[in-house]
Amino acid sequence: MSTPETREQWQEMALTLTIQGQAFIQGRYQPAVSGKTFDCFSPIDGRLLAQVASCDQDDADLAVSVARQAFESGVWSRMAPAKRKQVLLKFAELVLEHRNELALLETLDMGKPINHALRGDIPATARAISWTAEAIDKVYDELAPTAHNQIGMITREPIGVVAAIVPWNFPLIMAAWKLAPALATGNSVILKPSEKSPLSALRLAALATEAGIPEGVFNVLPGYGHTVGKALALHMDVDCLVFTGSTGVAKQLMVYAGQSNMKRVWLEAGGKSPNIVFADAPDLDKAAAEAASAIAYNQGEVCTAGSRLLVEASIKDEFVSRVIAALKRWQPGHPLDPQTRCGAIVDHDQLQRILSYIDSGQQEGATLAQGGKQVLPETGGFYVEPTVFDNVHNEMKIAAEEIFGPVLSVISFNTPEEAVRIANDTIFGLAAAVWTSDINKAHKTAKALRAGSVWINHYDGGDMTAPFGGFKQSGNGRDKSLHAFDKYTELKATWIELA
Ligand code: NAD
Repeated sequence: MSTPETREQWQEMALTLTIQGQAFIQGRYQPAVSGKTFDCFSPIDGRLLAQVASCDQDDADLAVSVARQAFESGVWSRMAPAKRKQVLLKFAELVLEHRNELALLETLDMGKPINHALRGDIPATARAISWTAEAIDKVYDELAPTAHNQIGMITREPIGVVAAIVPWNFPLIMAAWKLAPALATGNSVILKPSEKSPLSALRLAALATEAGIPEGVFNVLPGYGHTVGKALALHMDVDCLVFTGSTGVAKQLMVYAGQSNMKRVWLEAGGKSPNIVFADAPDLDKAAAEAASAIAYNQGEVCTAGSRLLVEASIKDEFVSRVIAALKRWQPGHPLDPQTRCGAIVDHDQLQRILSYIDSGQQEGATLAQGGKQVLPETGGFYVEPTVFDNVHNEMKIAAEEIFGPVLSVISFNTPEEAVRIANDTIFGLAAAVWTSDINKAHKTAKALRAGSVWINHYDGGDMTAPFGGFKQSGNGRDKSLHAFDKYTELKATWIELA
């Protein structure tokens, strides 16, 4: 398998790509029960990519019953962990083997640069599956410290049928963070990808089956949130709902769970992460380069985007100039060009949302220091310049609300206490970064920050060993690491009295 090296080669490959748009239930592709489809367009140039099954309540009912039967049969749920591991390792291998195709689907469908899809998303997806698989035959249950004539067994059991509803910004990685631990612990899974990026998840399903995941254990239902998403969230026979997406939808899912069967609900939601740069940061050029990538990588469509740049007042002007210089390398380009670092915005609605926030920043009196405009409209796709607002106050809309685009708000501060107060003055608590050479200041600030991930002297660190998730309205529960297993298992205490 040789990897295309130029935009033309990728475009050629795109022309011959077979795109699967049907739902995947019981180990095979099939149309929605209603026969309905929706059009899936590429944000790169507005081209129609596929007609995708528009699943709804009937498909949810079918997939849940199939998933339940598979679970009850024990074909996967009672398989020895070491055997599940083998199948999942094979699955991870197949993801890597098909890396060109999967990366291309990801780029065509949601607009990210091909090089990032190929070198970031696909290996991270495979890694999430293989790391989790490797762990599953190494975690033990517990025995309670009982009296001599008793045995207290504390065991974990798969929860049953898991529905995973995921967003469009990292379609495969977000899916893998859920389905890897869900499958590894023996559950049956129904994955609902975003209607804006359903294609790679549909391809993934066939690879899972090829790897040996039994029929009915892994199903994919494409469709809209308010139809099939809602049907799964309200379903009386779904035991666990895991979600990554916006805080608004996350709250709605908690209501659905309460209105139905009190299914477990685990939520990874929005963010407005502060990136705090003190005047004594060890390397201001590195800090500026990472502040730029923190807002421009994946077109700023990242839950942990460093969208609030808090800079100590004494270096603010100079630092902002360095960030603006670093952003020159992030001008939007054709996503299939391997040199491109900033691709297309996922769709027209998201582009309009970003432009309306840029408008609001100007209305509220922030200084537009860089960017601010839609570019490349002649392509038929959706592109926006990385944008920097200086002199922002934390109360402004552009500082308070998640934009999910490459729009940076710069806020200055004078003391560490003030930096922490501004950083924590948000409904979100997903991530934060601190740049300083002072170890005491670094630790004291990190401890004071109300966020699930804190990075010191870099932005967006961590791997599969580190749990990922949010404080406050950024969610509950954690993806990645052994902590992820907690979401997909029920804890059972079996108490034995010895006669
Ligand atoms: P979204 O909330 O609009 O949609 C996410 C998923 O929920 C989609 O599959 C959608 O179809 C579905 N959905 C929508 N309404 C629903 C309903 N009523 N019932 C059931 N399902 C429904 O989010 P998005 O626009 O796809 O993604 C962007 C959001 O995701 C941002 O807020 C971002 O911060 C968040 N995100 C969070 C993390 C994290 O780990 N915390 C990671 C990536 C993205």
